[in-house]
Amino acid sequence: MMRRLSLAGVAAALGAAAAACATEAPVAEGELASSFTTSARESGVPRDLLVAIAHVEDGLGTPRLREPNPDAHVVAAGPLMLRRGKLDTLARASALSGAGELELRADADRALAAGALVLAELAGRTGARPGDLASYRDAVADMSGYADAPHRDDYVHRVYATLARGGSFEGRDGQIVTVAAHPELPPSLTIAVEHGLRVLAGAPDYPGAEWIPTSCTDKCTVGRGGNKVEYVVIHDTEGGWDASVATLQNDPGKSVQYIVGKDGRLAQFVPEADTAWHAGNFWYNQRSVGIEHVGYATQAYPEALYAKSAALVAHLTKKYGIAPDRAHVVGHDQIPNGNKIAQSSPPCALSPKECRTSGKYGGAGVHSDPGVWEWATYMPRVGGRAKCTDVTTVATCSVDQKSAFRCVGDEVVVTACDGPGACEPRGAGDAVCHVSASPSPSSPPGSVPPGSAHGAAPPAVEASPSEESDGGCAIAPGTSGRVPVACAAAILVVGLAGARRRPRRRRRA
Ligand SMILES: [Zn+2]
Repeated sequence: MMRRLSLAGVAAALGAAAAACATEAPVAEGELASSFTTSARESGVPRDLLVAIAHVEDGLGTPRLREPNPDAHVVAAGPLMLRRGKLDTLARASALSGAGELELRADADRALAAGALVLAELAGRTGARPGDLASYRDAVADMSGYADAPHRDDYVHRVYATLARGGSFEGRDGQIVTVAAHPELPPSLTIAVEHGLRVLAGAPDYPGAEWIPTSCTDKCTVGRGGNKVEYVVIHDTEGGWDASVATLQNDPGKSVQYIVGKDGRLAQFVPEADTAWHAGNFWYNQRSVGIEHVGYATQAYPEALYAKSAALVAHLTKKYGIAPDRAHVVGHDQIPNGNKIAQSSPPCALSPKECRTSGKYGGAGVHSDPGVWEWATYMPRVGGRAKCTDVTTVATCSVDQKSAFRCVGDEVVVTACDGPGACEPRGAGDAVCHVSASPSPSSPPGSVPPGSAHGAAPPAVEASPSEESDGGCAIAPGTSGRVPVACAAAILVVGLAGARRRPRRRRRA
């Protein structure tokens, strides 16, 4: 990912960026931008530095007010994502501002103001000078919460590269926050350099994973007590990449083997041979590999994250001989709560909602992640299939609207919607899946032509202009002797009017 750039190239690029910014019309400062200006004025730290940190943290979209998630594996407060890293910026912000930690987690603007005070304190301690952005380098590194030099350096680089380029960034409620380009920053801070992120003591088990050096003290158990790996447990962090990684690297009492970012970035903290503390159930911890995902249980996860996660799980299931099914590739919300049932009980096989509300699952902390995880499309990528309790009998579009899924009989059927219009949601009714006339090579592995092999009811035919344009899929069965499989798929997802419907699963944690 890191590239070495020539100094001349960087200077030219920065000059061009500055020129481009100079010609942009000024943007009126909105309420989010004002909160940065106010926090900067009250703390004495540069406003643009606060915005650049919030941008790098993916924190600009943090809602103004929110209910702190008691389930969060990572507590991350406000646009700066105050957290329990090597430096506990959340605790420090609370002490400096007088606001409680829960208040800061609930109120983005208070968390921003309090976080600016932490940065100001670090700036004073590290000799930063007002008006000299570059002099904040060490304060920014401390603020990151990373314990190791390569990740501190990488973080500093990303913040200063953002400052050098400047730009307009979208934040909460579509508000724009603008930062001027800072071509005066020294290349030593802004040029991408190879920090040796992967050339550290230890080595990832999965090729290409970035190694995050993590002490096992108070965070994990060396070895697995002689047990084999039999499960993969899927989690989400409820925070951004840096907040999540710095927390999982440093916060005592929790750990995990892997983390996957929204853009498919993958890192490892704990060797697969050791027991990470992630499931709230030591029996399962000893027998599982835990994978955290950067995101929120109530927000759709992006394609790049699903793709990387599925590749990792496919690798793990092959490596350890784990069945790629929903009894072995499980969510945290399926892990037995040892306070209610035996730790070694089988994973919850009910619907995610029923697992969550029973009180018997989610480990000892009764966690409900990963929330809106799309098992129906995820499992075929892993080489398996979701269970019918993961979906309903109502045809539902995938998050990327490239496929549709539903329960037919007792199996989850996934259809690639590769025709014009792809998959169209229809409120509470069946989605419409447009399928091209010829089978698509892009069909996800494991997708099944519905109606062909699973005893589905005879498809109802609902002709529409768009379906006719999808390669003749509106032709009624029998009129041409044989209906192409792809056409049957399209028609099935449209119809099945007489199918018994299960209650629609509420899509939130
Ligand atoms: Zn979890």
